[in-house]
Amino acid sequence: MNRWYVRQHTKHGGIHPPRTSINRIGEFSSAMRRQEQRIHDKEILANYVQLKPGVLVIWDRRPHRVIELAERPVDLWGEEHEMRFATALEQWERGGKRGDQPEKATWDGRPYVFVLQPDGKPHEKPIHLIGPANHSWDVLPEHYAICAACGELPPCRHEIAEQEADRQAARADVLMDIPPGHCLGCGEFITARQQATRFPGPNLWRPDLPENSAVFHARQECSYEVDRYRRQWEARGGMKQQPSLFADQENAS
Ligand SMILES: [Zn+2]
Ligand SMILES: [Zn+2]
Repeated sequence: MNRWYVRQHTKHGGIHPPRTSINRIGEFSSAMRRQEQRIHDKEILANYVQLKPGVLVIWDRRPHRVIELAERPVDLWGEEHEMRFATALEQWERGGKRGDQPEKATWDGRPYVFVLQPDGKPHEKPIHLIGPANHSWDVLPEHYAICAACGELPPCRHEIAEQEADRQAARADVLMDIPPGHCLGCGEFITARQQATRFPGPNLWRPDLPENSAVFHARQECSYEVDRYRRQWEARGGMKQQPSLFADQENAS
């Protein structure tokens, strides 16, 4: 469970030329804050790479090199993109016609062709993708980390699955350590003075404990777990059979 994860580092990429400034509405009243904002803007602008042949991007969790970028000619858009453009035009009209009217040739969402080559695999077929011109890409540096086992960029699918499995195992371990009579939400003892919510029937989270043992604090802090349990309990029939009958804990023989 003490795995170390390789950090992923990328920049943003797109087809438009790098911007030279960021349009902001309003300004800080302090001169030093304005100066800090300018420095911060420089950092944001430096985090952008304009796509061109040779740039490394992420597609399907793997590194690919851009081979070709091209506008899709307007007469070859196809029905799907025509419909998306019609929707954009409609939204512009309904939104009070703010800004310039969308034109097919310059519209942000116009279809664009991206041809990518799996990096380091010159014998594999290039991948032809079509997507909106304003698609935001993740750009990789020339020196990037890759999972030696599966060839994916970190975190690879295996690492994510392992992380999730570890998290679930940790949860299950802690849940299994909760002593009987303690809250199944927070794991702590429920004192005689505290309100509790008890669920009749088999204990769904701790099948090793006897019937009617699922109990939670009635306080706000533990309510999320109560709701989670209640949903599972209701899915299993809840109290439909005996709507008002509880097992009497006090007089159980
Ligand atoms: Zn892997
Ligand atoms: Zn609790």
